[in-house]
Amino acid sequence: MPTLRCSETGERYEPAADLWQSGSGAPLDLEFEPRFDPDRLKSGAPTLWRYREAIPINDDGCIVTLGEGFTPLIEAELGGRRVRLKLDQLMPSGSFKDRGASVLLSHALELGVRRVVEDSSGNAGASTAAYAARAGIEAELFVPATASPAKLSQIELYGARLRRVDGTREETAAACQRAADSAYYASHVWQPWFMHGTKTFVYEVVEQLGWRAPDAIVVPVGNGTLLLGCYLGLTELAAAGLIDRMPRLIGVQAAACAPLYQAWKSGADSAVAVDSRSTQAEGIAIAAPARGKQCLHAIRATAGEIIVVSEHALTAALRAATGLGLLIEPTAAVALAGASEFELPGATVVAITGHGLKAIGALKSLARKHAPPSRGDAGVERPV
Ligand SMILES: *Cc1c(COP(=O)(O)O)cnc(C)c1O
Repeated sequence: MPTLRCSETGERYEPAADLWQSGSGAPLDLEFEPRFDPDRLKSGAPTLWRYREAIPINDDGCIVTLGEGFTPLIEAELGGRRVRLKLDQLMPSGSFKDRGASVLLSHALELGVRRVVEDSSGNAGASTAAYAARAGIEAELFVPATASPAKLSQIELYGARLRRVDGTREETAAACQRAADSAYYASHVWQPWFMHGTKTFVYEVVEQLGWRAPDAIVVPVGNGTLLLGCYLGLTELAAAGLIDRMPRLIGVQAAACAPLYQAWKSGADSAVAVDSRSTQAEGIAIAAPARGKQCLHAIRATAGEIIVVSEHALTAALRAATGLGLLIEPTAAVALAGASEFELPGATVVAITGHGLKAIGALKSLARKHAPPSRGDAGVERPV
C-alpha cells in the first residue's frame, strides 16, 4: 500500500483504518507513482478502471465498481462560443463523486473495513451509500437536514443509515468525525484515495481529445475534490510525458459562499472562513474547505483563476442547460454559468457534475418562476 504524507509537514504514516488526518490535523496525501499501460488503454473497458495501473489499489479482488467513468465529452455552444461538456451527471449514482467513491471504497475493502461513516451535503453520501452497498460494507451517512429530499432518499434506498443533522455543513462534519472513533471515516475530503478517483476525470478528457490537453477546464468548487483530482491527474499525465502543457484550471464558486474566491482575491494562500448565505448550489456551500490551501495552490500552479457566479446567473445556466437537452442539478449549473461569464481561451472543457433528477422539485419551482427559454436560445444571460 502507498504511504501517506502530511500535506503540511511531510511526515509519513502507514495507512490504517483509524487514520484520516495527520498528527498536526492537516490533510494527508499519498506517495504513489502511477503507470499508464498503452495496451490496456487500447483494449480496456470503458470505465475509469481502464487506468488500473494509475490507481493506488493493490488487490484486483477488492475493486468496487459499478461500471463508472468514461462519460461522454460532447460539444455545445455556450454564450456564442464552442465548448466541450464532460457529462459526469451520467454516473451510476448521478454525480462525479462516484469516481472517488469507487476508489475509496475499494481501499476500505483492502483495509478489511466492515463499517464506514461519512458526512456530505448529499451527493458524496449517495455515492458512498451506493458503493458501500456494492461492497457489502455497512454505511452511516451524516447529512444536513436541509439537503435535497431526493438525495436523502437515495442514501436510504441504498440501505445506508441516514443521520440528519440539525446544523451547518461544518457541524455535520464534526458529528461524523466523532462517530469516526468506531468506524472507518470514508471522507471524500480527507481521504486522498478519493482524489485518486476524481483524477480520472482528466485522464478521460485527455484521452477523449486524442491525448491532448485542453486549454482550460472549468469546475465547480466547494471542498475542491474535483479541482484537486484534476490537478493531481494533470500533474501525473505531465510527469508521464502524456501531455506537454497544463490546462488552466478555472474554479467556480457561488457568490453566496465563496471562501476560496475571497482568499484568491486577497492573495492569501489559505482559505478564509466565511459566513455563508443561502444558495441554490447546495453541493458547494462549504464555508471552510479543509483542503483550501491545496485548492489555491492548484489554481496558481496552472495560471488558473477562481471566479464567482450570482444566483441569477445560476438560474439562467440551468435554463440554458435544459435548452441543450441536459437536466442538471443547480450545483452543476455553477460551472456552466462560470464558463459563460469568463473569457475563456480556445478549447475549454466544462464539468457537468450532477444529475437534475436529484433536485427535480427545485428545478420545477424555478421553471414556474421563470418564463421558458425561447427555442434554440442556448445562451446564458449575464447578471445585470
Ligand atoms: C460535490 C459536488 C460538487 C463540488 O465538489 P467539491 O469536492 O465540494 O468541490 C459540485 N457539483 C456537484 C453536483 C457535487 O455533488
